[in-house]
Amino acid sequence: MTTTYRIAVLPGDGIGAEVTPEAVRVLQTVGKAAGLGFEFESALIGGAAIDATGGPLPPATLALCKRADAILFGAVGGPKWDHLPQEQRAERGLLALRKDLDLYANLRPARCFPMLVDASPLKRSVVEGTDIMVIRELTGGLYFGEPRGVSREADGSARGVNTMVYTSREIERVARVGFDVARKRRRKLASVDKANVLVVSTLWREIVTQLGKEYPDVALEHVLVDNCAMALVHKPTQFDTIVTENTFGDILSDEAAILAGSMGMLPSASLNHAGAGGKTVGIYEPVHGTAPDIAGKGIANPIAAILSAAMLLRYSLDRPTDADRIERAVFQVLEQGHRTGDIAARGEKAIGTKAMGDLIVQAVEIQY
Ligand code: NAD
Repeated sequence: MTTTYRIAVLPGDGIGAEVTPEAVRVLQTVGKAAGLGFEFESALIGGAAIDATGGPLPPATLALCKRADAILFGAVGGPKWDHLPQEQRAERGLLALRKDLDLYANLRPARCFPMLVDASPLKRSVVEGTDIMVIRELTGGLYFGEPRGVSREADGSARGVNTMVYTSREIERVARVGFDVARKRRRKLASVDKANVLVVSTLWREIVTQLGKEYPDVALEHVLVDNCAMALVHKPTQFDTIVTENTFGDILSDEAAILAGSMGMLPSASLNHAGAGGKTVGIYEPVHGTAPDIAGKGIANPIAAILSAAMLLRYSLDRPTDADRIERAVFQVLEQGHRTGDIAARGEKAIGTKAMGDLIVQAVEIQY
């Protein structure tokens, strides 16, 4: 009997609507070749949903996502909706969805493809061979801790407060993602904190160390966040998997991303991770936004979206071999010299979104 997976497809706005169909085509190709059934159902989110329904996350979209085995997401937002109040902005649709599904672990791979090394701002000798996975805690820490706010004092001055707070449960569940992901990679985990200053980091360190005893096959090290920021540009190849607090992860994952060259190459996943045998709920999406400067021109790079589909297979559907095949197909197409505008070197010919999608689909087909 064929297994059938339900995939919610939320292309969103701008180039989200152009790159997501290419990722769907790649999954359809995998489905046909590997004998998997996929049911794709699309829904509105972000600006497109505001225009059609008045809100960025319509109830029908949320219901679809809750029924789905995984969610393939494009990008949301754009100048058309920027004048709206914060709470009604297009980007709120994604934040509300992450909150509702309790997606507490954000996975951001940063890999420097050998044929694109020259697109990195770092020297070849530093960046070559970089292949890092940054796992950022996404629902707690400094961005959500209470108390928070700005108060006015009697003398007219003001006081602003944010709080970095973590429970042991929150630390343990994201650290477990760190160990499980490291196990699927090169079995090296760097837990990043600021334990020389912050007490919450001391707790973080204690819990991660304790959990490490369940993973004797994973080499665990503790790294201070300032050292990690330096090492990422000095010797990025020393890292394999990194797990860290929300704010630290926000900053470090962007720093790691720039090593890879273009935004158009970077996938991501936001997970509620079930561990062995359970169902891992996840949103899979490119790191980039809606790129209003190139939207509608058919020139966006679909590789970030396509690599997000590979992550969907790896983390929600537990199909690592199919994920490997997609990644290999992308690698081969790049190796053959095909480039979209964002990754083309000066004087190199650039192809469009669909043409790149076609080439990757063909390269996936020959993997089977
Ligand atoms: P952006 O990622 O959309 O674009 C930054 C630059 O990178 C632009 O020059 C763009 O042309 C280029 N770029 C990005 N993706 C590309 C691709 N696949 N191929 C080729 N070039 C690519 O970031 P921005 O301009 O800061 O934001 C634009 C809009 O997107 C804003 O409304 C922002 O709020 C939204 N946004 C949404 C998400 C999301 O939905 N997750 C993430 C980031 C930004």
